[in-house]
Amino acid sequence: MTSDLDAYLETTSDRRLASYLEFLRIPSISAQPEYAGACRQAAEWVAGQLHGMGVENVEVGETGGHPIVYGDWLHAADAPTVIVYGHYDVQPVDPIELWETAPFEPFVKGDRVIGRGSADDKGQIHIHLRATEAILATRGSLPVNLKFVFEGEEESSSVHLDAWLEANRERLSADLAVISDSGFFDGNLPAITVGLRGICYIQVDVVGTAVDLHSGQFGGAVQNPANALAQIIAALKGPDGRIRVPGFYDDVVALTDADRAAFAELPFDEERYRTDLGLPALVGEAGYTTLERRGGRPTLDVNGLWAGFQGEGAKTIIPAHAHAKISCRLVTAQDPNTIFELLRAYIMEVAPPGCVVDVRSLGGGRPSLTPTDHPATQAAARALEATFGTAPVFIREGGSIPVCASFETILGLPVVLLGFTPPDDNAHAPNESMSLPNHETAIRTVATYWDELAALPR
Ligand SMILES: [Zn+2]
Repeated sequence: MTSDLDAYLETTSDRRLASYLEFLRIPSISAQPEYAGACRQAAEWVAGQLHGMGVENVEVGETGGHPIVYGDWLHAADAPTVIVYGHYDVQPVDPIELWETAPFEPFVKGDRVIGRGSADDKGQIHIHLRATEAILATRGSLPVNLKFVFEGEEESSSVHLDAWLEANRERLSADLAVISDSGFFDGNLPAITVGLRGICYIQVDVVGTAVDLHSGQFGGAVQNPANALAQIIAALKGPDGRIRVPGFYDDVVALTDADRAAFAELPFDEERYRTDLGLPALVGEAGYTTLERRGGRPTLDVNGLWAGFQGEGAKTIIPAHAHAKISCRLVTAQDPNTIFELLRAYIMEVAPPGCVVDVRSLGGGRPSLTPTDHPATQAAARALEATFGTAPVFIREGGSIPVCASFETILGLPVVLLGFTPPDDNAHAPNESMSLPNHETAIRTVATYWDELAALPR
């Protein structure tokens, strides 16, 4: 069937690719202060697009950091109101030498657009922009009410988003939030992410003396902070992969038989996964499969570790201090603050004597889990199947999208994670890419999704 929308999209494809590439050329790296101007430029670019297609109340909202772009279209009487979230900021480009070309000079290679932000997440904002434009251009109205929230600090912990959501709670009243910042499953299978892990990040500092000591003169008489830190870390996790912090698993909602069946049904080649990583074996918590460990169970990992002499050759010292950065990925219903307190108490308890141990939080985010049978999730599944020709798989991602919990807890909204990037998109890495067919079909998916939502019984 060729609809007006299809016809419109066919005749506008060159212009659409040009606007996509134009957006990608703005180097909106949120973490590096020298790109603050570019972040603002990207925000203004998005605002200009929204305004140009007839979205109303468009503003580049100040946050104290990079701005948040807001805009709405609220003329669909008796239809649901949906918040659409994406982020226009991108990751830094290092290591730059591994890019085929300059990260902010995007180009098309085969059926991919290569460039920083092509997938994460400018490509997905662009899908929503062009979908809205196409529907308004062909029908003159949208089937649902939309409120766009496009932020510029997702890649640097969304520092100002929660306060902005709090301050704009009334204006953001809605039935649902759709976050497009996720992707498809292995084999480019359409997917809806229903679970995201949270995070609790800590730093452990172990301090002995003011300066390094001579290990001959003092060795045997004093605590060695590096040894002490190693003892602490070794106490955190058993050889069975279980985290030994008392109370750590108390709030973990156990995987049901249905959950485990859903994991088992995913097309996943464990052997290829292992060989792709170049590892002799995969390891993890006893009693769980690799996918369950990755998406459905909490973790504890050392992210960084430093102490003492690290130059060439030998230097006989007892280091003055030792440090570790450690993070836990959390699952429902673990609370990052509670987990921090449990970790700190346990580390203090197992810390050997003769040194001073400090544990501090470097941030956290809540896990989230959307019921697969939620009508809005089911409607998204129908829209994906109708446009991509394949029913989506429901996946639990190992990563964290803390903004998801922000929409759930601050605005009290159900969240649907509807993202379209291919699994091999190299997000955050050199040669980030987006599949153009995914981008093009996703525009139709979004349009179909709004129709599906409008058709739900109210
Ligand atoms: Zn992202």
